[in-house]
Amino acid sequence: MFRLCTTATLAEAHLLRDLLLRAGVDARVFNEHAQGGLGDIPFTHAWPEIWLDRPGDADRARALIDAFEHAPSGPDRACEVCGEISPGSFEVCWHCGHTL
Ligand SMILES: [Zn+2]
Repeated sequence: MFRLCTTATLAEAHLLRDLLLRAGVDARVFNEHAQGGLGDIPFTHAWPEIWLDRPGDADRARALIDAFEHAPSGPDRACEVCGEISPGSFEVCWHCGHTL
């Protein structure tokens, strides 16, 4: 196991984990339930973390995330399933998780 990064929110962690899984990189989100411990543990210990099953995937995972974070944003898109509007940079619906 290899800790790739921390994220500011659980939603961001799941978004990046799903991005990695779709690219064939086995990744997991840790600290999913640590938010409830805030106040008892340092906040930096409660941030969601993304871990890789195979440390050898780290360079590829970083490249995938970097490309995702710097991808040009197209127009907003409506979800075919729930109808909610997601920003053009989203690959999945923010509301239901359907692939856009
Ligand atoms: Zn949707």
